[in-house]
Amino acid sequence: MAEITEKIKRLKKEKNAVILAHCYQNPEIDEVADFVGDSLYLSRMAAQTDADIIVFAGVYFMAQTAKILSPDKKVLLPRKEAGCAMADMINLEQLRNFKAQYPGIPTVCYINSTAEVKSECDICCTSSNALQIVKSLNSDKVLFLPDQYLGKWVEAKLKNIEVITYDGCCPVHRNVLPDDVLKVKNLNPDAKILTHPECRKEVAALSDYVGSTTGIMKYAKESSAEAFIIATEKGVLDRLKRDCPNKKFIPVKDNLLCESMKCTRLEDIYDALNNEQYEITVEKTLSAKALSCIDKMLEVSK
Ligand code: SF4
Repeated sequence: MAEITEKIKRLKKEKNAVILAHCYQNPEIDEVADFVGDSLYLSRMAAQTDADIIVFAGVYFMAQTAKILSPDKKVLLPRKEAGCAMADMINLEQLRNFKAQYPGIPTVCYINSTAEVKSECDICCTSSNALQIVKSLNSDKVLFLPDQYLGKWVEAKLKNIEVITYDGCCPVHRNVLPDDVLKVKNLNPDAKILTHPECRKEVAALSDYVGSTTGIMKYAKESSAEAFIIATEKGVLDRLKRDCPNKKFIPVKDNLLCESMKCTRLEDIYDALNNEQYEITVEKTLSAKALSCIDKMLEVSK
């Protein structure tokens, strides 16, 4: 592993590339990464560099977002089949049909959506700023996609806004059931339950904290509690164990893994850099429209 890590580092320098690793990635990818974090953070950081090449160790919509924010850089996705099941649950035709059922209502898309979908939505959001974005629309009804659970969590928090959700979801987070939480909590009564809002609302209702990956990590690090039940992808739990060795992190259930994220290996990163594969392109007009959807979010949440 040390050998391939060194080869990647050398190649990265030669080609003036940056490597982005999503929080759900395998830990060895961190060794070669320039930035580690949530998808939007990574794309924004890469856009600020003078790199010629961005290698995104993540999934397709993330690499598309990086390309939209850095149109002059070459963006590579090391595993071309790495997609997000949630983002793939809605395409342009499905979006148009959904909107047609509710004319005149503003449409919010989660960052976990394709450039095509973003290009026909009013504003984008992340799990960190979803509440703020929905509120900013000053509308008593909002369409929200693709994630029904994040949308319904926002509705429950804001109370006076009806959030009409598309029926997409993340299969990884949907897999967490209230019973899973209760079982682990019974065994660890003092542990705080930290949950991603892509989980079911019944799971969110049992939690001490509901928030984005970054929010969960921040909460766990700053809290005076010593034990935490983590209801999100295993990569976050592994990261917390490494960052806070004196605290106890308990998975809400075993093997809560996003296989699309975990399929990227160091060999794929090396091949991506060496062969400059697999390049992600976003057509210019489409890119401009998707960028406007993202920019509106950034304007509201700055
Ligand atoms: S964990 Fe879920 S939302 Fe995140 S990339 Fe995987 S499938 Fe998509």
